Amino acid sequence: MTETASHPPGRAILGGSFNPPHVGHMRLAIEVREALGGLVQGVDMVPCAVPPHKAQQGMLPFELRARMVEACAANLPWLRCNRVEALRQGPSFTWDTLCAYREAEPGTDFYFILGSPDFATLSTWHRGVELPRLCNFVVVPRRGHTAENFIAAAKTLWPQAHPRPSVLPSCACVALPGGGLAHFLSLPWLAVSASRVRQLWLAGRNVDFLVPDAALRILRENSQTVRQHWLKESLAC
Ligand code: ATP
Repeated sequence: MTETASHPPGRAILGGSFNPPHVGHMRLAIEVREALGGLVQGVDMVPCAVPPHKAQQGMLPFELRARMVEACAANLPWLRCNRVEALRQGPSFTWDTLCAYREAEPGTDFYFILGSPDFATLSTWHRGVELPRLCNFVVVPRRGHTAENFIAAAKTLWPQAHPRPSVLPSCACVALPGGGLAHFLSLPWLAVSASRVRQLWLAGRNVDFLVPDAALRILRENSQTVRQHWLKESLAC
């Protein structure tokens, strides 16, 4: 998984439940693309069909979440929504998604985006520590995590992991067994989450500027279904 100028541009992948997509997701996609520069041709947002790590209660139907992601991506030519996870049965494992990507685009380098807490728990994911065979990681700090925390987490997951100079400016980088690199990008984390959007929506409060207008229109057009699903989560608490 080398990064050279002669290599064809890779692709960044942002997985998530997008229940619903919000401005934190969109800014993350924009900033990662800018930071990776010529290393990637674009970013794919990949809505999760059956989240292995999250309760299904309160999850909007896949179709609705994917339509919202598509609507948010519509005016950004480098941003796509990939519905690949809806094509499989059972839990939507990242391992399987990346295998599907590599089969569809052999020779492309993939950059899987995730927050630092998720990176630290990769050993709990299905074949999580093997993922560097399939992709690089772009790790974004959360909860005040620093580059030192990131390197320590990488060494806990992979004792053979070793820091190396990054091709990206001011970015910590670790080489992982299997061939992938993990890049630590110090991007700001906007204080917005899908859970908070759901809580505000159910309380009848205003979610303008937290959810892109294109997704908000779809939420409003489907307000009964949205309420019905999101209420299930609050009733389960
Ligand atoms: P929930 O509140 O339902 O747990 P969420 O807001 O964390 O959801 P997800 O769809 O689970 O949204 O997240 C998809 C991806 O976006 C993950 O990699 C997550 O770390 C990242 N992400 C979520 N919120 C933000 C944010 N505010 N800023 C940057 N990245 C974010």
